[in-house]
Amino acid sequence: MNMSAPLDDLRQQINALEIQTNDMDPSPIEWGRWLDQMKAYTDDFLIDTRDGPAYRQPPVGLKQENYPFHLSETGVSLSEVLSEMHQMVDYSGLNPASGGHLAYIPGGGVLPSALGDLLAAVTNRYAGVAFANPGAVALEHFLIRWMTELFGFPATTGGNLSSGGSIANLIAITTARDARQVKPSAYERLVIYGSERMHHCLHKALRIAGLGFSPLREIELDDRQRMIPEALEVQIIQDKTDGLIPFLIIGSAGTTDTGSIDPLDALADLAERHSLWFHIDAAYGGFFYLVPEFRSRLSGISRAHSLVIDPHKGLFLPYGTGAVLIRDIHQLHASQYYQANYMQDAAMADLGWSPADLSPELTKHFRGLRMYFALKMFGIDIFRNCLKEKIFLCQYFHLAVQDLGFEVGPDPELSVTHFRWAPVGNPDHNAVNRRIMDLVHADGRVFLSSTTLNGQIWIRFAVLSFRTKFRHISMTLELLQQVLNQLSEND
Ligand SMILES: *Cc1c(COP(=O)(O)O)cnc(C)c1O
Repeated sequence: MNMSAPLDDLRQQINALEIQTNDMDPSPIEWGRWLDQMKAYTDDFLIDTRDGPAYRQPPVGLKQENYPFHLSETGVSLSEVLSEMHQMVDYSGLNPASGGHLAYIPGGGVLPSALGDLLAAVTNRYAGVAFANPGAVALEHFLIRWMTELFGFPATTGGNLSSGGSIANLIAITTARDARQVKPSAYERLVIYGSERMHHCLHKALRIAGLGFSPLREIELDDRQRMIPEALEVQIIQDKTDGLIPFLIIGSAGTTDTGSIDPLDALADLAERHSLWFHIDAAYGGFFYLVPEFRSRLSGISRAHSLVIDPHKGLFLPYGTGAVLIRDIHQLHASQYYQANYMQDAAMADLGWSPADLSPELTKHFRGLRMYFALKMFGIDIFRNCLKEKIFLCQYFHLAVQDLGFEVGPDPELSVTHFRWAPVGNPDHNAVNRRIMDLVHADGRVFLSSTTLNGQIWIRFAVLSFRTKFRHISMTLELLQQVLNQLSEND
């Protein structure tokens, strides 16, 4: 008689829960207030980014686990969250959005991408599987095609928008491994050729791909830190003679340390002649290919089997976007596809390639939007000019820092150069350059990093933030002059 009692009871509880959870979907008015507050916060941030230092020392002695972050059962206002962000995150440390960020490989974060991210988060479109959102997937493939054409790759090319260069390199390495079709028992005989200057994420990728015990040959470099092709060929022939399986050449188009570009054409010739896979890591340097005057420096880039580029570097997007191109999409697919019973609807619909079959990720951020918004709203030409400006700024610095008395490395190939204070008569150059770094960091107006080349500490100067302008170069030179004065006072 009372069949509906359980239903009624459930219904009442559901009603109560509905009231308790309504706030998860704020009204348009509330949403508008949030956006206004975000606008005010980001305005302040951008003003500080323009006029403030690139680096503020983080709170001294505050350990990770002692940051006063906490969660509670009831929520707090957005303004409370934002003030926490300001104090704990956005105020100190390195500001990578600053034009004074001249360390590592700077990025930036153009604002149209922030709009794309906002839309991606609000609409939450599914960009992993074509069946779920053909348009989102078509947009990603369109961007891959845009890069395919830019880098002169063939129409058979496939690719993926990844979270960054590291994952993009991992996808390329696993694809190369799988394309070789050897059993894991032969992995220890697969030989990889790279250089001492190649990015550490490639070592990581090789290890994750099960190739950590494969012989890795670091080929001899010339005086500009570029692989010497003749030395590479000698090594390949030797390895063949020794019964090993030469397999993969990894070239860098702009090394992180020195911005050096390996002789890509010569490496491609060797890969062809000896039937090796040719991978190029152009995470830093790739997008300079947009600038016609500098294209020839990257000549040979079109001949890779796999290519990694990082839109969050050379296209100034916010962090979280890398890209990989594989010359033959079938090889990429054979390496990365999946099948699962619960995905059968998606698999049956013949809608073309899905990113989930071309990368390790299934569900992913709709990162195509941030790239599309930036390219679409700004147009391509401004990126070209901005990249060219970065090259000229670096060239200017490279010349001007010599006038201050610094020793410099070779002329920059792209937008990274290095220099050091090496006065005759001072035996410990490393100590003095470490001291210079400390003084530069303590000042904070600009942020530089250092590296060790052949046992010597060098200060790096890397321009790749779209916000870096001539005034940042002047500021850096001024600061270095001050630092030198300070050093000589202390002598
Ligand atoms: C930055 C960089 C990487 C790694 O890319 P992430 O986007 O940081 O993961 C790889 N190679 C080179 C040459 C780089 O400059």
